[in-house]
Amino acid sequence: MKKNRLIFPLLVAATLSLTATDNNTTGYKENFYKAVNQPWISAHKIADDKNQVSTFTHLDDLFVKNGLALIEKIKKKKQRSVEEQKVLDYYTAFSDMKGRNAKCVTPIEPIFKRIDAIKDHKELAHLMADLAYEGTPIPYGFGPVTDREDATRYVILGMMDGMTLPKKFYEDNSTASQKKIGNYTDYLRDILTLARMDDVNRTVENDMKVERLLASHSLSVTQLHDVKLTNNPSDFKSVEKMLSNLDIAYYFKKMGLPQTMKLNIASPDYFRALNENFKKVPLPVWKDYLKTEVLGAYAGSLSEPFIEAAQRYNIKEGQATKLEPLEIRALRNTSAALSFLFGKLYVDAYFDDADKAKIEKILHSILDTYRTAIKESDRLAPSTKKAALEKLDKMAFNIAYPNKWRDYTPLKVKSDDLIYNVRELVKFGHLLTAEKIKKGKVDKEMWESSPPQEANAFYSPNSNKFILLAGILHAPIFDANATDAANYGGIGLVIAHEIGHAFDNSGAMFDGDGNMKNWWTKEDYAAFEKLKQKLIAQANRYEVISGVHANGALEIGEIIADLSGAEIALRAYLSTLDKSADKNKGMRDFFIQYAKVWKANTRPQVLVMYNDTDGHPASEYRINGTVKNMDAFYEAFGVKEGDGMYLPPGKRVEIW
Ligand SMILES: [Zn+2]
Repeated sequence: MKKNRLIFPLLVAATLSLTATDNNTTGYKENFYKAVNQPWISAHKIADDKNQVSTFTHLDDLFVKNGLALIEKIKKKKQRSVEEQKVLDYYTAFSDMKGRNAKCVTPIEPIFKRIDAIKDHKELAHLMADLAYEGTPIPYGFGPVTDREDATRYVILGMMDGMTLPKKFYEDNSTASQKKIGNYTDYLRDILTLARMDDVNRTVENDMKVERLLASHSLSVTQLHDVKLTNNPSDFKSVEKMLSNLDIAYYFKKMGLPQTMKLNIASPDYFRALNENFKKVPLPVWKDYLKTEVLGAYAGSLSEPFIEAAQRYNIKEGQATKLEPLEIRALRNTSAALSFLFGKLYVDAYFDDADKAKIEKILHSILDTYRTAIKESDRLAPSTKKAALEKLDKMAFNIAYPNKWRDYTPLKVKSDDLIYNVRELVKFGHLLTAEKIKKGKVDKEMWESSPPQEANAFYSPNSNKFILLAGILHAPIFDANATDAANYGGIGLVIAHEIGHAFDNSGAMFDGDGNMKNWWTKEDYAAFEKLKQKLIAQANRYEVISGVHANGALEIGEIIADLSGAEIALRAYLSTLDKSADKNKGMRDFFIQYAKVWKANTRPQVLVMYNDTDGHPASEYRINGTVKNMDAFYEAFGVKEGDGMYLPPGKRVEIW
């Protein structure tokens, strides 16, 4: 799903299918997404403090309204639960701008002194580990994740880190990249000046030397999505040798990571290059780099001028021109920091369990449709079909919130010290790591990230499980009182999209138990590869804005999930219609609802930013790029050769 989102008012959702049909057939054939959404887009300006207006920003408005009401309710209570008190304290500490301004940069000055005090590269290696332990990003990181080769246990993943921008901006000399680097270094100069650094220009120069060096050896955003490329099983002894200059034994001890566990190194080449260059980079350069990293990590929790500096950067980057009101920023921060603790209070107050049964009904009809589609598929051999059906049968799902909640008892929160809270959260994170390591076995009931209040959904190939968060289960995506067309074009499609990830380019490499294992015949996989390449080529032709093309290779997983999702959700919806119903009208209702859910008016520079970093295609492409491949769309709207939405049958891709 998409990381930036929103919703429209209930009233609009309820009347969707009434206004949905046929009055714009010419437009539909030319540019379906625009014909459905342009009137809405033209009527909805992007707010000064937002990057977008869309279904997902409407969902976000609802979150803000509910979240602030929840905080107010907690404030007024005479007797608060421990959890409520923590939420209120965190919110209060974040909102206390007066207190934060008085402290300015002093809370982190002792860290700068520690950096200044190091005398050689050995001490530097140790200090890096200490800083990583305290939550500052350094050029590498290790932590337990589910093992791709055995989903019942954890493996320690070694990752690259410590760069701020995507690799390509450090490397290419285009005007756009130069501008990006210019904006970023202006921002660094701003915050380093606020932090009273002695030689700001030198500090920025040295920081960029290290960032560029790291970037030159790191993987691209697209490569990072490649599960095969980033799966390199190893063990402690080998990695210790690989990073011999960095004293990994010290790092592991500090982090509480055992040397006996299996390791996986995302990019061995990056680690080797880091090791080779570690001592070549002079100590003063490393020191300036680390100070910049520390400041970057804490800046959002310091005084107002730091926040204003970030805002100036955002404006230059074409993002929101105004800061959101402090109370909303405090809410977002509290919700993100106390994620599942806040989430439990949030769903208790705002999620109606009666909705679960209705969603499950749609979910089971989607699963049944997938079963039929797999059985009927003419691109899969019987053995591949058997494995696909097994994968579907073993798939787990979770609606709205986790069955098991994290215990936040050990987390301490103060109402007058935001930096203290930030540090306590890092410590709390280490406790969770320690628990995982102690348990050894993966607990499939626990969620790792994305708390339930977020408007999102996701599928994890490594646990063969998908999750629909409570925040997304609102109109127009789900509405218990809406028509079937509205719900199948909304939540039905979202569910079918998530299940589609089980059979996308990454999902295809994992079996029903979540283990990275091939379950395809050679011929079937080769055919799937071909279909993938066709979809990548289609996307590469699409212009996000004039002159900027979509990145098909990066987006292929989402493109496959969107197409699978639309094919399956449509079939599932049509199966709910009576024999006497007008099938053509049903298809049109479905497609129009689908397009409406993904309507979005986004700042152009933000669209370009997503295109560089996010695996999801732009909204227009999610609709037009998908339906152009579906024969049902041609049938429903009478699209013919010569129409903008036309793709010759030989160029269309059918997944199911
Ligand atoms: Zn997705």
